[in-house]
Amino acid sequence: MAKHLVAVVGRPNVGKSTFVNRIAQADDAIVHSMRGVTRDRSYHEADWNGESFTLIDTGGIEMGDEDAFQTSIRNQAFTAANECDVILFVVDGKTGINADDEEVARSLRKANVPVLLVVNKIDDPNNLDSIYEFYNLGLGDPWPVSALHGTGTGDLLDETVKLLREAPERFDPNAEDAINVAIIGRPNAGKSSITNMLSQNDRSIVSDVAGTTRDAIDTVVHHEGKAYRLVDTAGLRRKSQIDEDVEYYGFVRSMRAIDRAQVVLLMVDGTLGLTDQDQRIAGFAAERGCAMVIVLNKWDIVEGAEAKERVRDQVAERLQFVSYAPVIAVSALTGKNTHRIWEMIDKAYAGYNARVSTSALNNWLAEIRDFGHSISQGKKLLKLKYATQTATCPPQITFFANHPEIVTDNYERYLEGRLRRSFEFTGTPIRIKFKRKD
Ligand code: GDP
Ligand code: GDP
Repeated sequence: MAKHLVAVVGRPNVGKSTFVNRIAQADDAIVHSMRGVTRDRSYHEADWNGESFTLIDTGGIEMGDEDAFQTSIRNQAFTAANECDVILFVVDGKTGINADDEEVARSLRKANVPVLLVVNKIDDPNNLDSIYEFYNLGLGDPWPVSALHGTGTGDLLDETVKLLREAPERFDPNAEDAINVAIIGRPNAGKSSITNMLSQNDRSIVSDVAGTTRDAIDTVVHHEGKAYRLVDTAGLRRKSQIDEDVEYYGFVRSMRAIDRAQVVLLMVDGTLGLTDQDQRIAGFAAERGCAMVIVLNKWDIVEGAEAKERVRDQVAERLQFVSYAPVIAVSALTGKNTHRIWEMIDKAYAGYNARVSTSALNNWLAEIRDFGHSISQGKKLLKLKYATQTATCPPQITFFANHPEIVTDNYERYLEGRLRRSFEFTGTPIRIKFKRKD
């Protein structure tokens, strides 16, 4: 069974990071942080009263552009509502309610998981006057805490753990014997067409099995001796009118499906090109560690070599952060090229499961040391001493270094590029970690 997830949401400066640092295990390095469109999130392991869970710090929302700010607050709440088992919504007891809090609260009232309203910065537990106004957020009783001093956090964790024990077990895609594939994309991209195509061609055996979570119905398809579970995104039963809720639920469902998938097929409507939502979903899948195949659909009606080139260029540019994902152009309508999707899924799944031996990694590292480049900061020169693969699904490589704190994004990207050149990691994200070793 996979661990339960607890999301910590709230606007900037209310004390989310302080709170997470207090609750997460002391030696907890950030489990992973992904660059790309959604890097504003980190995962931390935590434990209370014998219950282990993962905390998601939805962290730094980019300030500045007002629209972008509103969007990221909403996304944060979307994600939380979809992704986790309990939401801790942190507000600032010193400043009181503001419009952003109200915006988040509005989204969270729709969530179908429990929400605990955490009023932080109540440094004097004997003075609770300021917490009452938070009843106006419509999220029940406020929980006063001081993340700084640790007061109130024990009671809050007791309640959190109680709720987690009542939450449904989390689906663990890696515990299944079928390859779990989510077909994701905007309404009308061709998800149901491709699902039908994949489950009917090859006279495969199709069986519907009730999903383990809530509203999902999955389809198991057998193809050339292997089982694939097509994880339903329920986008098929969309309403025709485009309103906010259709978008909202479509997005939430996609994220839920991604959560249960090992491989994501990102369906892009070739006639429309890549949309912001495609990009966002790709970022989310990458962050969750899913392998990915990008499917350019409706290729039959993308007219001319130039238009095709334009779509490919746009995808390459805007999905650069998942440049490991193979791209295939198909027509779900005529069936052209769709048989090759199986091959792509298998390849991405192989990358996702890939395991590189420690000796191979350290031979590779010796080469980087001799012929590659390193970085420095002031008097500190980074020395990579040793590398080992510490996880699969997706692969995680841990580097032991003298000064892990000076590693930059660029350097990490450089190492990732070198890894990909030497080993077969097609279709899968790679997590890179650094640990200190003097
Ligand atoms: P985030 O942006 O929500 O992650 O907020 P931070 O954790 O970075 O905290 C923002 C500021 O609030 C920092 O200066 C913290 O020291 C301060 N802060 C956080 N928790 C408390 C608290 O319980 N009491 C007081 N007085 N300050 C706090
Ligand atoms: P979904 O909303 O993502 O499940 O998309 P559907 O599979 O329902 O497809 C939406 C519309 O696009 C339908 O009218 C399909 O017939 C059409 N469509 C899907 N794939 C293709 C394709 O490859 N070529 C063309 N020309 N139309 C397609």
